[in-house]
Amino acid sequence: MNKILIKNIFLCACMDDGSREIKDCDILIEGNRIKSIGKNIQEPADTIIDGRYKIALPGFVNTHHHFYQTLTRVLPQVADAKLFDWLIYLYRIWEHLSPEWVKVSTKLAVGELFLSGCTTSLDHYYVFPQRSENLIDIEIDTARELGVRFHPTRGSMSLSVKDGGLPPDSVVQKDEEILKDTERLIKKYHDYKDFAMTRIVNAPCSPFSVSTGIMKESIKFARKHRILSHTHLAETVDEENFCKEKFGDTPVKYMERVGWLGEDVLFAHCVHLSNDDMKLLGGTKSCVAHCPTSNLRLGSGIAPIRTLMENGATVSIGVDGSASNDSSNMLLEIRNAMMVARVRTGVESMPARDAFYMATRGGAKALGRSDIGELAPGKAADIALFNCRDISFGGTGDALAALLFCGRDFTASDVICDGKIVVKNKQLQVFDEKEIWDEAGRIFRRDIAPNL
Ligand SMILES: [Zn+2]
Repeated sequence: MNKILIKNIFLCACMDDGSREIKDCDILIEGNRIKSIGKNIQEPADTIIDGRYKIALPGFVNTHHHFYQTLTRVLPQVADAKLFDWLIYLYRIWEHLSPEWVKVSTKLAVGELFLSGCTTSLDHYYVFPQRSENLIDIEIDTARELGVRFHPTRGSMSLSVKDGGLPPDSVVQKDEEILKDTERLIKKYHDYKDFAMTRIVNAPCSPFSVSTGIMKESIKFARKHRILSHTHLAETVDEENFCKEKFGDTPVKYMERVGWLGEDVLFAHCVHLSNDDMKLLGGTKSCVAHCPTSNLRLGSGIAPIRTLMENGATVSIGVDGSASNDSSNMLLEIRNAMMVARVRTGVESMPARDAFYMATRGGAKALGRSDIGELAPGKAADIALFNCRDISFGGTGDALAALLFCGRDFTASDVICDGKIVVKNKQLQVFDEKEIWDEAGRIFRRDIAPNL
C-alpha cells in the first residue's frame, strides 16, 4: 500500500476528543488512512512531505454549496440584490444549465475548496431543467474523478410561481419524479461503508420552492434508505413572512410539522430563529450549516450559532453557493464564522479553536460520519497543511489561531484527500488551473452571457 510520511510538522491540531495539539511530530499515512502520529517515525515511505513551519489540521468539511453557481459569480445585475430578487433573476439563467457548465463549475468549486484545505464537501444541487436529464450524474462523476469526498444532494423544486412558490415552471418537477430519481442515484452511487467517497443526500430546496407533500414524503423516503436530509431554512425575514402567511408557522415549526427535525437533518443558514425555534432544533439534535459570508453578502443577518450550540444543535460550516459568497474558500469561511459570532454573541463566544472545531468535527457529525474530521490513527487520510513561514504570520504568539486572525491568501500549502496528494506547494495537482479558467470563460460566454 502506498505510504506518505509527513516529517517534522511544526504543530498538529488533531481536533480529537482531547483537543490534542502536538508539536514537532510526524504523520504516517498508509493507503487511505492515518497509520500513526508521533515523534520521529522511522518507517520507509513512498513519498516524504516536509512538515517544517507547517500546521496540520484535519481536512475541512464543507456542509453547504451549490457548485453550478461558480459560473454565475459577481453578476452586476444582482450584485446588490436581496435573496428573493437575486433568486428570481438567477432561476432564468440557471434553466440553461448544460453538461459542460456542470462539469467546469464542479472543477472550479472543488479546486478552490481543495486549495483552502477542504477535503469533504456536500453540494446542494437542485436545478433540473426539463429539457435535460442526468446533469447531476455529470457532477458526481466529475467530483469522483477529482477525488474529493463528496455528499451530492438530489435537490428538488416542485412549487412554481403558479402554485404560490418562487421558481418558474421550467425548473420544477413532480414529487414522484424526484423520489424515483433519488432512488436511482442511491442505487448507482451511495456507499454506506466507512471511508465512503460518495453519499447521496435528500434535499428539497427550501420551504418556498417545494410542496408540503414532497417534504413529508422525502423525509420518510430518506429514513427508509438511511440517508441524510438537507434543505435551506430560516435564511431571511422574507422567508419567515412567507412561511407564516402560507403555513401559519415559523420555518422551524413548519419543519416540525412535516417531520423534518433530528440528527439526520442538516439545515443551511438558520439565521432568523425564535428562542422556541432554537430549543426545538437543539432538543432534536438537528444540524446546521452556518454560512456567514453568504448571509453577510446578501444582507440576510447573522445566525445565533453559539446559542444554537448551547441548546444542543450540531453546528458546521458551509461556504454556500458561489453566486452569493462568491468564493469557495473554506479557511476564509472559518475566519468569518469566528468574526460574526463575536458581533452577535460577544467576543468571548467564538475562540479560533471552536471555529476550527465546527469546520472539522462539527462537519463530520453533521454529515453523520465518524471516519473524518480528526487526525488520529485509523481515521481517513484527509489532511490540510498550512505554511506559517510567511511575513503575514511574523510576530504571532499562537500559530494555530493566527491562521484565522492573520494570513494573506488563505491557501493551504499541501492537502491530502483519501491518501492522495491534491495540493502541493499551493498548486493544485488534479487539473491545470489556467486551462479551467479559460474553459469557464468560454462556457460563460456561450451559456450565460446571452441570457443576462
Ligand atoms: Zn444555499
